[in-house]
Amino acid sequence: MQKYIIMGVQGCGKGTQARLLKESLDLVHISVGDIFRWHIQSHTKLGARIKRTMAEGQLVSDEVVDEVVKQRLDQHDWNYGFILDGFPRNSRQAEFFLESYDIDAVLLIDVPDAVVTERILNRRLCPKCALDYNLIFHRPAVANTCDICGGLLIARSDDTPEAVQARLQDYHTKTQPILELFRRKELVVIVDGTRPADEVQKDLRRLLVEKLETLAS
Ligand code: AMP
Repeated sequence: MQKYIIMGVQGCGKGTQARLLKESLDLVHISVGDIFRWHIQSHTKLGARIKRTMAEGQLVSDEVVDEVVKQRLDQHDWNYGFILDGFPRNSRQAEFFLESYDIDAVLLIDVPDAVVTERILNRRLCPKCALDYNLIFHRPAVANTCDICGGLLIARSDDTPEAVQARLQDYHTKTQPILELFRRKELVVIVDGTRPADEVQKDLRRLLVEKLETLAS
């Protein structure tokens, strides 16, 4: 059983790295942001409550987040383990989580703010098949059109310059301090996330093996 948390500023590529890791290690990828986006798209009660907060790039309340994470983990469909993406985002959430679960490693994808800001503002999504694009390094063949299903590409509603700024500030003031907590427990594995996704993944896998060997010895 492997239990990981993946961290880094928004747009650092943690979603992509988590998905690659999930496939190779047969883990369940739990993205709190994806769960929230599903609620908004499906017009649930919760979706209506969090829509505005998310669009402004603000954090959803801890009570709501804790409940969503708890319900997801209570499904117990993670025989080989899980990788948590976008949670915990502050010390209160970290404490809540560590009360019930232990983890094997925290994977930090390190990318400077200026680089992620450019990446995020160029991020596009196909609302029909959910494929991600980036106008810098993964352009669609035909402008604004999904290569796979022909859907019209859109930007996430929280990918505006103001919302990106708010999220970066939240990360530095609220999320970064919990890294200290994990560092003290010697759980953190850091990779340089400015390189192509496959190279970042290779590094991540290598460092994880080293980390697990150290823990076992
Ligand atoms: P993400 O996809 O991780 O960038 O998350 C998108 C948005 O969902 C964030 O900007 C927050 O509004 C909300 N969100 C996701 N995870 C959390 C969390 N752990 N705590 C509070 N809000 C969250």
